[in-house]
Amino acid sequence: MSKYQIPPFKIKMVEPIKLITKQQRANRLKEAGYNPFKLKSEDVFIDLLTDSGTGAMSHFQWSAMMQGDEAYAGSRSFFRLEKVVKNITGYKYILPAHQGRGAEQIIIPELIKREGMYVISNIHFDTTRAHVEIAGGRAIDCATKECFDLDNYYPFKGNFDLDKLEEIIEEKKKENVAAIIMTITNNSAGGQPVSLENMRAVNRIARKNDIPIVIDGARYAENSFFIKQREKGYDSKSIRAIALETFALADIFLMSAKKDGLVNIGGLIAIKDDEELFKKAQIRIIPMEGFPTYGGLAGRDMEALAVGLEEALDENYLKYRIDEVRYLGDLLKEAGVPIQYPTGGHAVFVDCGRIAPQIPYDQFPAQAVCNDLYVEGGIRGVEIGSLLLGRDPDTKENLQADKEFLRLTIPRRTYTFEHLNYVANCLIKVYKRGKKLKGLKFTYESPILRHFTARFEPAE
Ligand SMILES: *Cc1c(COP(=O)(O)O)cnc(C)c1O
Repeated sequence: MSKYQIPPFKIKMVEPIKLITKQQRANRLKEAGYNPFKLKSEDVFIDLLTDSGTGAMSHFQWSAMMQGDEAYAGSRSFFRLEKVVKNITGYKYILPAHQGRGAEQIIIPELIKREGMYVISNIHFDTTRAHVEIAGGRAIDCATKECFDLDNYYPFKGNFDLDKLEEIIEEKKKENVAAIIMTITNNSAGGQPVSLENMRAVNRIARKNDIPIVIDGARYAENSFFIKQREKGYDSKSIRAIALETFALADIFLMSAKKDGLVNIGGLIAIKDDEELFKKAQIRIIPMEGFPTYGGLAGRDMEALAVGLEEALDENYLKYRIDEVRYLGDLLKEAGVPIQYPTGGHAVFVDCGRIAPQIPYDQFPAQAVCNDLYVEGGIRGVEIGSLLLGRDPDTKENLQADKEFLRLTIPRRTYTFEHLNYVANCLIKVYKRGKKLKGLKFTYESPILRHFTARFEPAE
């Protein structure tokens, strides 16, 4: 255990959880159309669906909430939050949003000025991709090839493939590229970090071609911690200094504060110095999210976020956070379960293409493993594979993901190492019977973000 950071907190409030019987779990899953998104959380024992808004707040955050100023305009809580965000990012203009996708729906349409423009990212997060497409753009992913080499250690698997980035810009022509989005950490590749060296190179390419850079930085603090641990020359720098250096390389910061903001709801837009863009965002935010000094949040939410952003920069917290994920990854790897190695910042990504190779990609092997894990132990994970990727917007064919991942996402400050032992034991059982699992076929499929609402039946 001493290989892993002891939690730097004690528990003041508890929420009971219970495990329903195996027969009940099998029934509930069937009623849910074999889609864990449609399960009731009360029927879930350990919920690793997401780390988004599912973490525990500190007593400092709860007490700050009592000071929320609920004024519609000019709230004191907004100015407190604005000050914190300006300090962390070094950016001039700040707007709150109700969550990350709220921030995306304000900024992305302003960047995609014409139908058919391209947005390039290391890997677009799913809602980011959706907002690019809704705005009439096309999303192109450009991740380093090491990110798909699951078994081998590479310190920055979240990086951009820089040669490919330059090739894409040349092929599509720079005036057709609306933005480059640096997703840090790279969620879809396994919460993998992006190095400052790589971001500096992306910045040079973008500057040369006059393309704005957006940081999709839901987990920028975790990314900064990895830089401190792994990148040459950064081991004595503070997390705050590394974050500041990161933000200096971009123009716009969009954040789902439900991750490294350590809150249950919230999002942020920060703009470095583009006053014109800020004015456009201010106009758009009013009908979409709310008045610019609350953007869909209550004053108390902004207070909790102002405190949470600071707490997330604490190094002991980050070490414990990253170590919890590493611990679960180590247990699985030692038992032979194929995972993205090394583990990233927020989740263990399990390679279900190798656990259930008999299931074709369009019958969703990771969804099958995910469902079996729920029946085995009441544990809810989430598919990050071909189901999530969806269909080609032009041909409507099912796209094939590079990897069929099951993501086991660890909520912040929520589960103990004992919970993770239990998760590992259940998944090892599923792994051993993986080659007997059956795939799934749709009984309902929505045209956009289908994974949230799809229903299935077992394939023959
Ligand atoms: C969660 C997330 C988003 C979207 O944020 P929501 O708060 O879920 O709307 C966008 N980008 C990344 C990288 C994320 O992890």
